[in-house]
Amino acid sequence: MSGIFVRPNIASLLPYSTARDEYSGSLGIFLDANESPYENGFNRYPDPRQKALKARICALKGLKEENLFLGNGSDEAIDLVFRIFCEPGKDNAVAIVPSYGMYTVAAAINDVIVKGVPLGPDFSLDPEAILSACDGNTRVIFLCSPNNPSGNAFPREQILEVVDRFSGIVVLDEAYVDFSLKGSLAAEAVSRENLIILQTLSKARAMAGLRIGMAISCEAVIRLMNMVKYPYNISLAAMEKAMELLDTPIDDKVETIISERAGLTVALAGFPFVERVFDSDANFLLVKVRDADGLYDHLISRGIIVRNRNRVPLCEGCLRITVGLPEENRSLLKALEDYE
Ligand SMILES: *Cc1c(COP(=O)(O)O)cnc(C)c1O
Repeated sequence: MSGIFVRPNIASLLPYSTARDEYSGSLGIFLDANESPYENGFNRYPDPRQKALKARICALKGLKEENLFLGNGSDEAIDLVFRIFCEPGKDNAVAIVPSYGMYTVAAAINDVIVKGVPLGPDFSLDPEAILSACDGNTRVIFLCSPNNPSGNAFPREQILEVVDRFSGIVVLDEAYVDFSLKGSLAAEAVSRENLIILQTLSKARAMAGLRIGMAISCEAVIRLMNMVKYPYNISLAAMEKAMELLDTPIDDKVETIISERAGLTVALAGFPFVERVFDSDANFLLVKVRDADGLYDHLISRGIIVRNRNRVPLCEGCLRITVGLPEENRSLLKALEDYE
């Protein structure tokens, strides 16, 4: 972490020490945390270090615990990045446009300005444009691959070029990586000091309701994130349910979604009012149509809800459609056949 800026108040922070930090054995009479002694499965505070769930996820992903942070959704990790690395009212971040809205919202909450750098033709990444948007107070660059809402993954050499030429933190959001053949850069994040990979249990792992996000990075960055997070940021209920659901493999479901994505891409392109279906490495398709608002309303009238991205820069005329179950996708196509 030699060259990376950390806010001085964070670098010198004395973190809260929980009762469970001070004594972490599991046998005994626990009179240390002012909990209720009446057992109901949830009367005790959860493990603030999330050891069991981390061990499970690390085994799945071939990671070491020191390289994994668990948050209340990826959104917690995004917020922590601003709180650790950006001085409010002074520092700034750079993010690709269009991309996930939470980067800008979390930045605004932390009084950090985000400079948006538009993607190139067909939503391509331009490392040079991103790097030249940075100034002496740019502490973080946000990339998202596969990108939301465009759906495409960027070439790994281009992502690594940004990481290697930038002297601050690069956050690479891989929420949709399980749907992409281009693979994860998690191994690169472990061996560098300025790359944070975000992943989540919310998408391919089908646990959006549990709110568990992950950050993968070098030990020093993970230590900072663990120091600044709320001590009990993941509930016992969420950890227990996640452990249970992680026992069910997802490969066949991910394969079905990927093959449905291919089928939908072809089928959607056949409609006269569809101008473009962008190639997707994710579980959704960005579709440019003649009248996005009109088509959005038509689908609503059929009980099908998609995301209208018509007012997002570079996405004019576009709807973002999540790949559903095969029968749901057939209902979508049927509703489109009845349009105009
Ligand atoms: C859905 C999504 C996430 C996941 O956020 P969680 O808080 O983990 O549910 C993160 N990044 C992007 C780009 C997403 O689209």
